[in-house]
Amino acid sequence: LVARMRPFGTTVFAEMSALAVRTGAVNLGQGFPDSDGPPEMLAAAAETLRGGHNQYPPGPGIPALRAAVAAHQRRFWDLDYDPDGEIVVTAGATEAVAASILALCEPGDEVVCFEPYYDSYAASIALAGAVRRPVTLRPGADGRYAFDPDELRTAFGPRTRLVLLNSPHNPTGKVFTADELAVVAGLCREHGVYAVTDEVYEHLVYTDAAGPHLPLAGLPGMRERTLRISSAGKTFSCTGWKVGWVSGPAPLVAAVLRVKQFLTFVNAGPLQPAVAVALGLPDAYFTGFRDDLQRRRDQLVAGLADAGFGVLPPEGTYFVTADIGALGGRDGVEFCRSLPERCGVVGVPTQVFYDDVEAGRRLVRFAFCKRPEVLAEAVTRLRRLR
Ligand code: PMP
Ligand code: GLN
Repeated sequence: LVARMRPFGTTVFAEMSALAVRTGAVNLGQGFPDSDGPPEMLAAAAETLRGGHNQYPPGPGIPALRAAVAAHQRRFWDLDYDPDGEIVVTAGATEAVAASILALCEPGDEVVCFEPYYDSYAASIALAGAVRRPVTLRPGADGRYAFDPDELRTAFGPRTRLVLLNSPHNPTGKVFTADELAVVAGLCREHGVYAVTDEVYEHLVYTDAAGPHLPLAGLPGMRERTLRISSAGKTFSCTGWKVGWVSGPAPLVAAVLRVKQFLTFVNAGPLQPAVAVALGLPDAYFTGFRDDLQRRRDQLVAGLADAGFGVLPPEGTYFVTADIGALGGRDGVEFCRSLPERCGVVGVPTQVFYDDVEAGRRLVRFAFCKRPEVLAEAVTRLRRLR
């Protein structure tokens, strides 16, 4: 194995899901819903599978999906992208992130990101021979994760090529506010760098959150330097489909497509028309989905607090992080490895998403994208820890 990939073992998601299967524990680790997405979308997929849409789709994605992505971004985020040239369909957000970094970074270039970071970011940066410059998100007295603007400023330098921003943020559940985004945008403009934004949880911002979801690309001077990424997996509860997309100015999107051609060429032919159908669902689908997840969030947050965890209530996503200190836990990895045996539940230690491991030492992430009865069972089990 090449040196640049040697620091990366098996992903924590695979490890923890395997542990859940082996022990029969309730799996609140890997983030995937335990029920299916909109029936209209599933019916459309069944139809295309039987209807002869099983060969290579066009390189940038089928026109109907690109048009649906453009219409969706206009409807919800007031962003205008030309489906012909400014949108490319990818194999999930994961490929979109990798292709964006590979398209933009020379070896030695620096990528500013926030930690804890989604695990594929570090690997994609390494594959490009680039260097990550993480800025740590720390819980404040108000329970919100925040960054120190001076620390962010210091992370920018002559080798900075881009900022990789995930909001709503996995694993903290943080939603970056307008003020926080303005700081990020200001530094991008000042240093003339690109932004790559991972917005896969764009529809999961809770109504009591710090603010609505705001795409960084919507801020002054940002559209021309931003690649905006999202995917169907979270919004339509189909994480196994791996249909994502990148939107941005034509030259940047052309660069991503150049790379994508040789990573996967094309993907998900029969699923693309179905995702187009889903993106066109009425507003009620999207708000209903959010309200549903907000109830599940509230259920798990209350349950974790009752079980003795120090809960950091999330503003978005389908994850909640909890401090294990009050339960006598000192190390999240140790805690998560023994949790199935102690009480039959699986979570994910978030320290594995930090360079500054100490900052996340006692934090564990639990997913609430599960049926209420499954969450109730998990909470009953977690109460045994007290
Ligand atoms: N980014 C973030 C922040 C995620 O949580 C995930 C995982 N679901 C992904 C990207 C990957 O998305 P996809 O499955 O569409 O590749
Ligand atoms: N995005 C999901 C999570 O954060 C799962 C990703 C994965 O399994 N690679 O849990």
